[in-house]
Amino acid sequence: MTDKEYMDNGEKYFVHTYNRYKIVMDHAKGVYIYDVNGKQYLDFASGIGVAGLGYGNEDYTNAIKNQVDKIMHTSNLFYNVPAITAAEKLVKAAGLKKAFFTNSGAEAIEGALKMAKRYAYDKNGKGDYEVIAMGHSFHGRTMGALALTGNMHYQEPFGEMIPGIKFAEYNNLDSVKELVNENTCAIILEPLQGEGGIYPAEKEFIEGIRKICDEKDILMICDEVQCGMGRTGKMFAFQNYDVIPDIIATAKALGGGVPVGAFVAGEKCCNSLVPGDHGTTYGGNPLVTAAVNAVFDIYEKENILDNVNRVGTYLETKLDELVKESDNVVLRRGKGLMQGLVLKNPVGETINKAIEKGLLVISAGGNVLRMLPPLVITKENVDEMIQILKECV
Ligand SMILES: *Cc1c(COP(=O)(O)O)cnc(C)c1O
Repeated sequence: MTDKEYMDNGEKYFVHTYNRYKIVMDHAKGVYIYDVNGKQYLDFASGIGVAGLGYGNEDYTNAIKNQVDKIMHTSNLFYNVPAITAAEKLVKAAGLKKAFFTNSGAEAIEGALKMAKRYAYDKNGKGDYEVIAMGHSFHGRTMGALALTGNMHYQEPFGEMIPGIKFAEYNNLDSVKELVNENTCAIILEPLQGEGGIYPAEKEFIEGIRKICDEKDILMICDEVQCGMGRTGKMFAFQNYDVIPDIIATAKALGGGVPVGAFVAGEKCCNSLVPGDHGTTYGGNPLVTAAVNAVFDIYEKENILDNVNRVGTYLETKLDELVKESDNVVLRRGKGLMQGLVLKNPVGETINKAIEKGLLVISAGGNVLRMLPPLVITKENVDEMIQILKECV
């Protein structure tokens, strides 16, 4: 079949929830991905921040292959070794106490939300607690995560959301304070907003939220699904600040490509969910947690965080130069290997040109060009990207 025929068949049989780029992907190696015609693309999207290790890392693929031969699934009615070791690594990396593995980012958010509500319920037996979320946030597409997502366009067609969700303005601490009352059980934020347009939290804002939460016994939840797992140069983005959240949600790069997420909780609330409260059939199965183990091992062995800091700084410098040089590039926002360029022209046009020239970048909102390259990219890859991007903006 030609790529056109594949795509026509895709449109025939998929529920049409995505306006996909007109490429049929086939295989990948390192930081390059290839379509069915053999055309090469430099990947500055990494499957929306999932392929942190790039493609084809042998330690990673071998770990998965070995696990496939051993056992792929057990259910959570039993223990399995990869899940136990992965939980220990994840908990220690986050500096928290206990983890629950999920199959996606949205499910990690759902679990965090339930844990927060359960914690509040334990305090005085009420189930009607409120959660404060942020404008321009993105937490996923399931009904609970959608209710927390500060984009009414995503919510509107689906009627009543779960009750008790209020939206504050990101980086406006007073707007959060105004919404806090005796029924607030949690405040949730992305330390670096992704889909909403690559907005980093200001220090005063995120540390102010921690203070409010401490004073009022409210749980602080950080959505690290996109900005976590090394993307900002720390294992988790909250670690760039002087805060420790009560719960984090992670996914995307956590499994390096297999569908896995987790919520991880600290001392205060990690025992609030008890048997019967929450579960998942697949969550943390040996296949995906073998991948998680490999990801953590490779981060250590290959000093991935050092690379993010080194190449991230270089990327920032190069993008700042582009901002100065190009009238169409208004400003840069982001940290490490999670960067956004605010463009004057519609971002879609620029992305299409880039793809044409063999560079994958994505958007965040209407006018932000977003970069989420694999965390293993080199300065040479950045130079290659800049050269193509210059011709597109
Ligand atoms: C992608 C994303 C999610 C949802 O993750 P899924 O795996 O798509 O369910 C949640 N929060 C943030 C910040 C994300 O970027």
